[in-house]
Amino acid sequence: MNFELTKEQQMLKDMVRSFAEKEIKPYAQELDKTSGFNEQAFKKMGELGLLGIPFPEEYGGSGGDTVSYAIAVEEIGKACGGTGLSYAAAISLGASPIFYFGTEEQKQEWLVPMAKGETLGSFGLTEPNAGSDAGGTRTKAVLDGDEYVINGEKCWITNAGFARQIIVTAVTGKKDNGRSIISAIIVPADAPGVTISCNYDKMGVRASNTCEIVLENVRVPKENLLGDSQKGFSQFLYTLDGGRISIAALAVGIAQAALEKALQYAKERVQFGQSISKFQAIQFKLADMATEVELARNLVHKSAWLKDQGKPFGKEAAMAKLFASETSFRASNQAIQIHGGYGYMKEYDVERFLRDAKLLEIGEGTSEIQRLVIARHLGC
Ligand SMILES: Cc1cc2nc3c(=O)[nH]c(=O)nc-3n(C[C@H](O)[C@H](O)[C@H](O)COP(=O)(O)OP(=O)(O)OC[C@H]3O[C@@H](n4cnc5c(N)ncnc54)[C@H](O)[C@@H]3O)c2cc1C
Repeated sequence: MNFELTKEQQMLKDMVRSFAEKEIKPYAQELDKTSGFNEQAFKKMGELGLLGIPFPEEYGGSGGDTVSYAIAVEEIGKACGGTGLSYAAAISLGASPIFYFGTEEQKQEWLVPMAKGETLGSFGLTEPNAGSDAGGTRTKAVLDGDEYVINGEKCWITNAGFARQIIVTAVTGKKDNGRSIISAIIVPADAPGVTISCNYDKMGVRASNTCEIVLENVRVPKENLLGDSQKGFSQFLYTLDGGRISIAALAVGIAQAALEKALQYAKERVQFGQSISKFQAIQFKLADMATEVELARNLVHKSAWLKDQGKPFGKEAAMAKLFASETSFRASNQAIQIHGGYGYMKEYDVERFLRDAKLLEIGEGTSEIQRLVIARHLGC
């Protein structure tokens, strides 16, 4: 494993950073206030090839690796956590399952426009009664002739309000042991019977679009089944393993932003006749933040590198997601502390970092679930 970025990765980092500074960061505060979505930035990200980083050129992608993708998520998330979440979800949840498990026709139809940045896609796993326990999925898909008829409800689905299609998980049968067979089906967002409402009033990542989806007798061709009908469960576990690397990268981006803001403020703020960065109590906080950010980034890059090598990466992705999301929350909290009362004011950004970071301990598997995954890898 290389501890230095390659020339291409460094160039990508510089490009995404300067793009995010110009096109994303200036809008972050306003979008947090209004729960808006930076459509313009997504359009430009598409033009720059950022929505296709980990996909081969034959599918409209840029042919990059997972490390490059993680670098882009970090830089975008550093500029705006909500936009970073939508970016990570668009690639890891909306597009990647079709790349991993889709037929050639499905890739041409759905993946290519996403990789080119012309469309967005979503992944609808969570339901009101099935979150961590995704095996408890109640949405049903029944084969009727050449079509699946789907009924159910999904909640908190990222980007669904802007998606061309949603990959929906649904029960398609029962195994001999009585457990549900869960399959994944591609549902066009404009299919009759699909209702998408995006009215959640969220604590953080407010620049990310989050929606409820109701499916009432939605009919899709049976060719829209994604991958093996019997293996929907293991397919989404693999998808989530990959997604965790991107959530961890987003967490590193927010933590890095918190560190930079806190350091800058500590140097400027004068109390007792000197800048507060001269107080050891403040220095220790900054030193701990910097150390944790560095460790979290190393974990992200290691898990991404393992994935790129075709090696098992589930344990490392869970470790990266767990450690980076908790680092992000701690770093944002300390950044507020270093800012004192100013940190409690929205104008100074750091309270937004904390609200955004909190989601990362919940989405794509809570911290408790990450610990369970890691413990299972340890053989518990
Ligand atoms: C902003 C946002 C965006 C999201 N985007 C998407 C998306 O695009 N697609 C999608 O499908 N989902 C999405 N989600 C859903 C998200 O993945 C779930 O919220 C998450 O998986 C947790 O499920 P839950 O909220 O039902 O919590 P629950 O599963 O009800 O958990 C509640 C608490 O119990 C704990 N717990 C549960 N089971 C165990 C256990 N076995 N051992 C120990 N503790 C346990 C949890 O860790 C948590 O602390 C999103 C959520 C949010 C808030």
